[in-house]
Amino acid sequence: MEDVSLTAVRRSGGDKIVLAVRARGRGFVSVSAPTRLEGKCPGVSARVRIDNESSEVYYRVSEGPIAAGTETFLAASLPAAMMLGVDLELPGSISPRLSNALPRIQTILRSWVPDSSEIQVHTGPPRAATRVPGHSVACFFSGGVDSFYTLLKHHSEIDRIVLVHGFDLRLEDAPMRAKVSKALRQVAKELGVHLIEVETNVRSLADRYFPWRFYHGAMLASVALLLAPQIRRFYVPASDSYATLVPWGSHPLLDPLWSTEQMELIHDGLEANRLEKIESIALSNIAMRYLRVCFPWTEEGGAYNCGRCEKCVTTMICLRSAGALGRCATFPPQLDLSSIARLPPLDELDQLDIREILRGVERNGRDPLLADAIHAWLARRDPRGITSIPMRVARKLRRIGRRLQKLIPPSRPRLDQGF
Ligand SMILES: [Zn+2]
Repeated sequence: MEDVSLTAVRRSGGDKIVLAVRARGRGFVSVSAPTRLEGKCPGVSARVRIDNESSEVYYRVSEGPIAAGTETFLAASLPAAMMLGVDLELPGSISPRLSNALPRIQTILRSWVPDSSEIQVHTGPPRAATRVPGHSVACFFSGGVDSFYTLLKHHSEIDRIVLVHGFDLRLEDAPMRAKVSKALRQVAKELGVHLIEVETNVRSLADRYFPWRFYHGAMLASVALLLAPQIRRFYVPASDSYATLVPWGSHPLLDPLWSTEQMELIHDGLEANRLEKIESIALSNIAMRYLRVCFPWTEEGGAYNCGRCEKCVTTMICLRSAGALGRCATFPPQLDLSSIARLPPLDELDQLDIREILRGVERNGRDPLLADAIHAWLARRDPRGITSIPMRVARKLRRIGRRLQKLIPPSRPRLDQGF
């Protein structure tokens, strides 16, 4: 292995920390000390230099207080440094709890992304755990199913919701950002919580080095660490359930490891699958007025929910099964079942989710046509080879199986297990 040369530079002025890393002959990464941004909204920025390229990464927050930013930029840069296989030197102090968790965070990320490496993180002396925790409890909130589920579940303690511009909301899409901000301000007002908006360009760095699906948990953590002076507990809404859990950047094994003595990060909502979450939030008229699941860039013209993409149609399937589609103001009032047939074939991960939804739809037993349409969608890519059986026969066999199941004592295996 080639040598690692660590270079720490201190700018004039004393308080400017420069993080500098020389790779194992493969390049050079440096992150300058976070600098406070001027203006109405508080913020921090730092220069990230990789080889000869340098870019400014910033975070702005609609209201403070915010942290100095050392831990924020640690979370923001660690996965990139791992991908480059370079050590990270951080002259500033970080939380002892977070420092102790860094090896485990890296072990998990590296197991998911074998091309990455576990690296050394060099920091200053551990910070004394004397910082006073913030007063608030918050959750990340995009307006989607997982967000509403966690907010409503913990409504008695949550008093802040946090929307991030620059993750799924692209920074350059000003009309969509304005639309979502306006809707979420209304959600906050009607539910009696406070909306905090964060803007960051960190994806311009992150996307170049690490797959977003494994990186986004660290990015959420970077925002939580920035807001730690005001938020003592931060819920991260789960996108999986216990039954569909797969390697993913925001994960119950990973999210809590980004906690500090001051701020606790909690991965929340694994107990419910998508259909169960929608059945739950359908009880809220506010959720039914503002639910937003569509990725803005999937739809030209920037519809709040396009009603046609896979995420929209899957949500509409669940709303229809829950008997709530007509009440959800942000979706068309009816689901054309042929739109399911027009969706792209499901990949392996999405199949897990859709099978869970199908089980719920069949358990409800109110909508066999919907169940058939989902079966047809799944069968197009069924890895067990069910596509070789004519669809009508396959459906009939399933129905017979379900009828037989009712005659069998509960201790016996379910005939439709595995859908
Ligand atoms: Zn859509």
